[in-house]
Amino acid sequence: AARRAGARLRRIAGWIARRVGGRAGEEAPTPAPQAGRHCAGGRGFVAGRLTVTVGAAKAYVGLGANLGDPEAALGSAIVALRGIDATEVVRCSGLYRSASIGAEGPDYLNAVAELRTSLAPLALLAELQRIEAAHGRVRSHRNAPRTLDLDLLLYADKCSATNALTLPHPRLHERAFVLLPLAEIAPGLVIPGLGAVVDLLPAMAGQRIDKL
Ligand code: AMP
Repeated sequence: AARRAGARLRRIAGWIARRVGGRAGEEAPTPAPQAGRHCAGGRGFVAGRLTVTVGAAKAYVGLGANLGDPEAALGSAIVALRGIDATEVVRCSGLYRSASIGAEGPDYLNAVAELRTSLAPLALLAELQRIEAAHGRVRSHRNAPRTLDLDLLLYADKCSATNALTLPHPRLHERAFVLLPLAEIAPGLVIPGLGAVVDLLPAMAGQRIDKL
């Protein structure tokens, strides 16, 4: 099973490398500012407006759901992200299906969105939690199945380690369902304290994940 998962992950990583042609240390190609589809391929969502707010910070949000209708939940979450004040959704990854790690319940659907925001990190996190709650998220216990999980993965190159907000997200580098969609939309990304996102991928080889 681990060998199959490794082969699947290498296939997806190869797909990402071919699709974006990016290498560590390079900026991701920026899509032309035009209406239409800005997902990097496969099934995904329209990111919408692309008016970049001057002076805003770049932030990445991880989306996941494994209860109810996860695809609808992620679609509706993207719409809700677009509605956050002083925030633009710049691009979204395609959708990934991943085995739940250390959690009960069915497989997850996952994606990552890149935002530009003028909100401070804690204000942005509060908005993400408001959107989770609006999607029926109940915090019962750690790793409980969820209708919608939104994680603030990165906010500019900020590092913080409080209970309320840890940046980069504390489990970001352990999860294929975060790193693969992140590498898809930002192959040149360097994660503060952890290194290039593409260099973190090989360690994910044991995790089951499919790109839809
Ligand atoms: P979870 O149940 O995994 O969604 O975790 C939510 C809790 O983690 C909340 O109490 C948040 O304040 C806290 N937290 C700390 N850092 C982050 C982060 N980078 N993104 C989302 N939640 C965070």
